[in-house]
Amino acid sequence: MGRAFVYVILGGGVAAGYAAHEFVKRGVDHGELCIISEEPVAPYERPALSKGYLLPEDSKKSFIVHRVLNFGQIRQSLIVESSMALATVELDMLAQEIGSRVCGGEDDPARLPAFHCCVGTNEERLTPKWYKEHGIELVLGTRVKSADVRRKTLLTATGETITYKILLVATGARALKLEEFGVKGSDAESVCYLRDLADANRLVNVMQSSSGGNAVVIGGGYIGMECAASLVINKINVTMVFPEPHCMARLFTPKIASYYEEYYQAKGVKFVKGTVLTSFDFDSNQKITAVNLRDGTKLPADMVIVGIGIRPNTSLFEGQLTLEKGGIKVNGRMQSSNSSVYAVGDVATFPVKISGETRRLEHVDSARKSARHAVAAIMEPEKTTDFDYLPFFYSRVFALSWQFYGDSTGDVIHFGDFLGNSFGAYWVNNGHVVGSFLEGGTKEEYEAIAKITRLKPEIEDLTDLETQGLGFALLS
Ligand code: FAD
Repeated sequence: MGRAFVYVILGGGVAAGYAAHEFVKRGVDHGELCIISEEPVAPYERPALSKGYLLPEDSKKSFIVHRVLNFGQIRQSLIVESSMALATVELDMLAQEIGSRVCGGEDDPARLPAFHCCVGTNEERLTPKWYKEHGIELVLGTRVKSADVRRKTLLTATGETITYKILLVATGARALKLEEFGVKGSDAESVCYLRDLADANRLVNVMQSSSGGNAVVIGGGYIGMECAASLVINKINVTMVFPEPHCMARLFTPKIASYYEEYYQAKGVKFVKGTVLTSFDFDSNQKITAVNLRDGTKLPADMVIVGIGIRPNTSLFEGQLTLEKGGIKVNGRMQSSNSSVYAVGDVATFPVKISGETRRLEHVDSARKSARHAVAAIMEPEKTTDFDYLPFFYSRVFALSWQFYGDSTGDVIHFGDFLGNSFGAYWVNNGHVVGSFLEGGTKEEYEAIAKITRLKPEIEDLTDLETQGLGFALLS
């Protein structure tokens, strides 16, 4: 049994959705394109899973509507804080608009089909109907178990062989398991990971049954931080545990991290740093009662969320394509070592022109743009130059929201009001601005720091840059 397509997208996440959109924009014919995904639903905006998806059912009763201005377009998110009933008539109206557009209902947490791609960039929402109307075959709930890039075939777990002329690998990444670090028991009922919709549904159920109880969040990255905020909103007591000296250690400076940690502490979150989880305690029903840490601490726990990193899904191509930095190595056209195979999103290691480095990025903006770029290179090769990407990452927690552009290397210059809620930093390397961070910015301010990071201006005097602060980006 088998089918043949001109273009096959392997994986059905963010990059797949944006790639499909780009294929249609560039005139793919009916029947030419197929998407194969292990997930049972059409591509969706994965970041929603740790944000709107985890809001409590009664989120409308009290909320803060938080508008995030992003890439020149207004993006909005509902941030719920049960303890702060701020609903005014104006906010209420805005929430209704956002609720119906982003969350699928005026007072519900986010649920599909509301956040299918490409709502994250305020473009059309690609529902299963959209794929059908454009003649795109969606093969869902189907895992590809092997690939043969020489024969240009994929073999699915259901025994079907799918042949392609061009393959776009968009298999993303999987969450690292505690077992990979020698800790047993993470398959227990109340231990949650968060990568896909099934994980999110499980997490919602565990949260509901743990209301008023204790949660331990393992990992201080953005998954841990966003989940911790959601747990607080769901009235669960949270302790975060991570080995680093502060949260978001790969990006935040100690000064930036201490702002967020203090904010979280004011919400009741406790931090246990510099140690890791070593084992779980269970009761006679195999329910987790506590976690044990390497430093000897025992923390009571009704539930545990583990966010300790991801590993790109490259295994189908090991020994067939060149891999680098954990991902599939591609050139500036997102083309791998086999000219019929392209790779995009979390699984791709690509040349980042602005820094002259080859990198693998685990961010949604990179997934969207690399996917669009690969499709441009496939459909209009003569008109497509090398991908010129400015790394961009954001997060939203409680009423906070930050954006980061570029690289976090070199000297750090902080600016702004760390006691208020608008502050930031520049990273200066070899005398040039290479990265910028801003919390609580406006649309214009975020655009300004993005622009300055791309321009990489020379900095002669770091003290002067510190004095000018955000004004340096705004006036440049
Ligand atoms: P994915 O979206 O992970 O999609 C991969 C797809 O491939 C999945 O559908 C998977 O099932 C499928 N697949 C894999 N192997 C196979 C196989 N063998 N056969 C069939 N199908 C397969 N980034 C930000 O910048 N900001 C954020 O705030 C943010 N929040 C996030 C919150 C959460 C909870 C998560 C998990 C991620 C978040 N990210 C965020 C990261 C962002 O979502 C990812 O960078 C993005 O999803 C990567 O897109 P992708 O298409 O490469 O991979």
